[in-house]
Amino acid sequence: MAPSRSPLSRQSIVEAMTGLLGPGAVETAGERLKAASVDRFRKYTAVRGIYDGPIPAAIVYPASTAEVAAVLRFAGDNLVNVVPRTGGTATEGGLETVVEDSLVVDGSRMNTILAIDPVDMMATAQCGAGLQELEDTLRAQGLTTGHSPQSKPLAQMGGLVATRSIGQFSTLYGGIEDMVVGLEAVFPGGQVTRIKNVPRRAAGPDIRHVIIGSEGALCFITEVTVKLFRYQPENNRYFGYLVDDFGDGIDALRELITAGYRPSVCRVYSPEDARQHFADVYQGKNVVVLMAEGPRGLADATAEAIESLFAVRAGSRIDSGRIRQWFENLNWGQDQIDAEKAAMLRDAHLGYTTEVSVDWSRVAGLFGAVMGRIRREFPRAGDLTMLGAHSSHSYQTGTNLYFVYDYTIRCAPRDEIEVYHKPLNAIIVEEALRAGGSMVHHHGIGKYRTQWVLEEHGSAWYLLSTLKQAFDPRGVMNAGTIFPLEP
Ligand SMILES: Cc1cc2nc3c(=O)[nH]c(=O)nc-3n(C[C@H](O)[C@H](O)[C@H](O)COP(=O)(O)OP(=O)(O)OC[C@H]3O[C@@H](n4cnc5c(N)ncnc54)[C@H](O)[C@@H]3O)c2cc1C
Repeated sequence: MAPSRSPLSRQSIVEAMTGLLGPGAVETAGERLKAASVDRFRKYTAVRGIYDGPIPAAIVYPASTAEVAAVLRFAGDNLVNVVPRTGGTATEGGLETVVEDSLVVDGSRMNTILAIDPVDMMATAQCGAGLQELEDTLRAQGLTTGHSPQSKPLAQMGGLVATRSIGQFSTLYGGIEDMVVGLEAVFPGGQVTRIKNVPRRAAGPDIRHVIIGSEGALCFITEVTVKLFRYQPENNRYFGYLVDDFGDGIDALRELITAGYRPSVCRVYSPEDARQHFADVYQGKNVVVLMAEGPRGLADATAEAIESLFAVRAGSRIDSGRIRQWFENLNWGQDQIDAEKAAMLRDAHLGYTTEVSVDWSRVAGLFGAVMGRIRREFPRAGDLTMLGAHSSHSYQTGTNLYFVYDYTIRCAPRDEIEVYHKPLNAIIVEEALRAGGSMVHHHGIGKYRTQWVLEEHGSAWYLLSTLKQAFDPRGVMNAGTIFPLEP
């Protein structure tokens, strides 16, 4: 699809936004605009003050669904590219403004928790409500969404739904797609649509899935209703085991899951990756991490199954207090982001990730293929200071692999992405597709996996591309995200 090209000047776009939303809702300060032109895909160049792409005309902060509709109407009429944003933790370029004079539409001021219903077990929040705040409020009432991505301290409901995010307790609670009951969104032209909250229905295809995972490329999500569960941390049981072979760790997870158990956390770390988290206990081995939770009877039954499974497998146990302590410090808030920035500046060194998914029978093969190809083919393999992977989200039919790689940058800062990040990402994506898996498990396609999107979807691309044509015919929603731009 070709990106929209607005005939309006930057100044007229800003004036129109000020007229629609008021001056307090329109940001035009240079440094803020530069920062809003990228996301964490370009975290290194950003920290070095390098912003080579188009800088948006303004960041606007609508305060209501009606204001979002007014902004999208204006954008559609005037072919202005819109980049929706909430928590700003995107990692795949979804927030990059690749079109001149884009509008970053930031929903973070729409941050009200609208309703908590402990009978029908649902909570409704505006798009800018922080997940941490929602969870803190719910937990004080003995409830939880069950959603716990590592970005929980910063991510907000709109972005969490838009990226099809997933949390650490996914094996029990599912991804965000299993949690959303209903939601409201504004489509280009200002069309407001609310998908109602019902336990289930057979009234045609499930239209929630047009919106969940749309990464700002089809609509702006304004309100989300999610399911609730009882919060019973007193029943949590933590487990850690050392295993000699990554494939054996994967096999253990498969046995547990396919037998019907649902530990909330179900992970295997390769030794290289385990070293980052469990340096004091990993002994150079693969680390399996599990957690049982829920009502006491279920948590106990799951715990018993875990213990029996590992009793017949070689592998020593890690103290459960160590695993619990690890969980309690796993999430990333602003302090960790700031510390990472300081370290990147100081050391010209950083870490990135690429997450894919594949059927059980292909996991060990995919792991070996990626590790082998990177070591053999990546011309800067000597600059890698860590290359490993973990499986962190498992299903009846397979699991994800989350490849992690750290490197020292020995090129001009501006070239970092081309020299390091893109080639590493490409090897992982290519191998996942070759293994019949998906090139993206939970971070979204953003703007850097679009070159493989046709291969990812095959003949089903017809469905996805038709959605874009139908809902965003003028191409004003987050150009270059999910849907590749025409050269
Ligand atoms: C340290 C760290 C840890 C992370 N851990 C996880 C994890 O455990 N699991 C996981 O799934 N992801 C994780 N992520 C990725 C990211 O945080 C999540 O994908 C999260 O869902 C993004 O939410 P956000 O509010 O920050 O969205 P943003 O970064 O603001 O936006 C993300 C994408 O959604 C679109 N978008 C944002 N708001 C809206 C809206 N209202 N309507 C329509 N589109 C919108 C944007 O255009 C963009 O494409 C992590 C990221 C970081 C930096």
